[in-house]
Amino acid sequence: MNTFHLSGYPRIGAKRELKFAVEAFWKGAKTEAEVQETAAEIRRLNWATQKAAGADLLPVGDFSFYDHVLDLLCTLGAIPKRFGFDAANLSLPEYFQLARGNATQFAMEMTKWFDTNYHYIVPEWHADTEFKVNAKNLIAQIKEAKAQGHDIKPTLVGPVTLLWLGKAKDDNFKRISLLPKLLQAYAQLLRELAAEGVDWIQIDEPILAADADENWIKAVETAYKEFAHTGVRIIIGTYFASVAEHLNLLKSLPVHGVHIDCVRAPEQLSVFTDAWPQNKVLSVGLIDGRNVWRANLSKVIDTLEPVKAKLGNNLWIAPSCSLLHSPQDLAVEEKLDGEIKSWMAFAAQKLVELGVVKQALAHGKDSVKEEIAASDAAAADRATNKLIHNDAVKARVAALVKGADKRNSPFAERIKAQQAWMNLPVLPTTTIGSFPQTTEIRQARAAFKKGELSEADYDAAMKKEIAYCVEEQEKLELDVPVHGEAERNDMVEYFGEQLAGYCFTQFGWVQSYGSRCVKPPIIFGDVSRPNPMTVYWSSYAQSLTKRPMKGMLTGPVTMFKWSFVRDDIPLSEVAKQIALALNDEVLDLEKAGIKVIQIDEPAIREAMPLKKAQWDEYLAWACEAFRLSSVGAEDSTQIHTHMCYSEFNDILPAIASMDADVITIETSRSDMELLTAFGDFKYPNDIGPGVYDIHSPRVPTADEIEHLLRKAMEVVPVERLWVNPDCGLKTRGWKETIEQLQVMMDVTKKLRAELANK
Ligand code: GLN
Ligand code: ZN
Repeated sequence: MNTFHLSGYPRIGAKRELKFAVEAFWKGAKTEAEVQETAAEIRRLNWATQKAAGADLLPVGDFSFYDHVLDLLCTLGAIPKRFGFDAANLSLPEYFQLARGNATQFAMEMTKWFDTNYHYIVPEWHADTEFKVNAKNLIAQIKEAKAQGHDIKPTLVGPVTLLWLGKAKDDNFKRISLLPKLLQAYAQLLRELAAEGVDWIQIDEPILAADADENWIKAVETAYKEFAHTGVRIIIGTYFASVAEHLNLLKSLPVHGVHIDCVRAPEQLSVFTDAWPQNKVLSVGLIDGRNVWRANLSKVIDTLEPVKAKLGNNLWIAPSCSLLHSPQDLAVEEKLDGEIKSWMAFAAQKLVELGVVKQALAHGKDSVKEEIAASDAAAADRATNKLIHNDAVKARVAALVKGADKRNSPFAERIKAQQAWMNLPVLPTTTIGSFPQTTEIRQARAAFKKGELSEADYDAAMKKEIAYCVEEQEKLELDVPVHGEAERNDMVEYFGEQLAGYCFTQFGWVQSYGSRCVKPPIIFGDVSRPNPMTVYWSSYAQSLTKRPMKGMLTGPVTMFKWSFVRDDIPLSEVAKQIALALNDEVLDLEKAGIKVIQIDEPAIREAMPLKKAQWDEYLAWACEAFRLSSVGAEDSTQIHTHMCYSEFNDILPAIASMDADVITIETSRSDMELLTAFGDFKYPNDIGPGVYDIHSPRVPTADEIEHLLRKAMEVVPVERLWVNPDCGLKTRGWKETIEQLQVMMDVTKKLRAELANK
């Protein structure tokens, strides 16, 4: 038989039971015993589901109260010393304090796991970091699974990836210098697991799929040679991109197998199959672990059969990556359109698919005739179904000719036409779009959704908010006001709900970090815009002021990156469809007299492929999609974009090629470092560096803002410089927001006066 295994499963519960238990524990409303019970029940159900689907080796170590990387740091005794905790006797409240901070210590940093929306806790590495293995939690879970009658395979993030993903916290210190000590700790951990009777262990080294430097790849070699005699059999897990360039390394390592992601990188399958030694396991991930679509079982089986012919039972099957990144169970969805639902598979359904594949490999396709027929029918339906396919949308994208993404005139001419009517002072001021989302706003929106608030009352409530927001901006004398986005729950969901081709689930939650879960919209079909989406609210806001009101849209890349996306057409095509839908909105806004329009693209960087070699291709279509969304706008219409919280230094030429008239970017946290890069690059259009961090209620001092603005004036010609906060203000309260913006305005006015006297 071909072993069916997996490295991880959603751990928040089908209805987010863990989230609610943990949050109640934080509030003191649940005891530790109660949360532990919820956790154990989730693990029990997860393992039972996996076993029932036919999984042979079930994961242990994938469960976590907050983050599995943090758990591993605890197991290795490598928690930051600054907390003063005893890692060997860490209590649950202390564990949560590492993740969330406490009265004296700020929380450990977190950041996105590769190109997913999952955030892991970033290890803090010091020259004197010591490791001390304490595997009691992991071993307890191993015992728990075994007591329930399961065969298991613990999963750990590998040592090289762990070191690489951490941050060096001392000067003149290289993370990799910790490798020898860390390897000793891992080796001891593996020996302890072997002593517990663990046979197989999966050690994930996704670093192999990223473009890590040669010395890091060398470290992989060192590491796994070191683990050769620990008494466990190791399968190295890789995912999210091809590892074909490391084939020879992987072949030569003294490990027992490797897992490869053949959804993200199907081309590596033949490379591996052709060269893989018959005495080692090749685990092939052909069921997408991080999307919501049903697999084409017939194709999957046909692809695997020749691999089986070559490798026999050393072919293993698994999801492409941990199922942590997929929603848990489609069966609990009650409101999803039946047809759309029939094209989907969440984690539980993916397990069933793998069970069918396993059966087919063992007993032939005929033994799973019905399942294959159902899968074929879904695939055939998806290929032609009118809910998905809109000929007009397809024709519109197909008709795009070279140059169709260009504005009428170059920036130098456009900006003159814009200045002519906008009459802005030097150092114009604006904000990024959202203003405080007060409890009243959220309650009104929720009540309206539930039908408890009439449309007229909802409309009045939102207008009242917008009017207040505009009035406050008038008082502050912000040059380019916004309406404040009161009516938006979320910058992607708001548009998704109004676009054809998007749908929404009730329980399709995915863990983002800790107890925070997100429910990404699903793009299932061709995207178009049946009706204007923002014109009503923006026009109302404009009617309240003589200043140029800035309309707010979410850009095509961010619209797909923060959604689950259909897998039947290329991403570039999806992006273009969204861009054209947004273009309809831009032109309607313009017609309605909204002649400043911001198209947010905060996700442009995180949607980049892992491999640098694929960046140019991605950036070409991503930037084209952005340009398409504003094409046809008059020269005098000013297009803004906004980006934040990512590394942008290495993609400045692409950002420039987006050709927005104004870009506002988050910079204050890095003391304008990013802006210096924009300056060195000679970014050609207008630019608004963020002058204060919106994550804190603290009101910045005038000196702080002045310092940042003066720095900005050194690198960007003052006639192209704007003044604005780092990002949207929706997480702030009104009082601090007004005070913060007041300081920003005061400093701006001071500098304007200075410039006028020059
Ligand atoms: N316009 C959005 C806002 O202000 C942008 C948010 C973001 O950059 N993530 O909230
Ligand atoms: Zn932002």
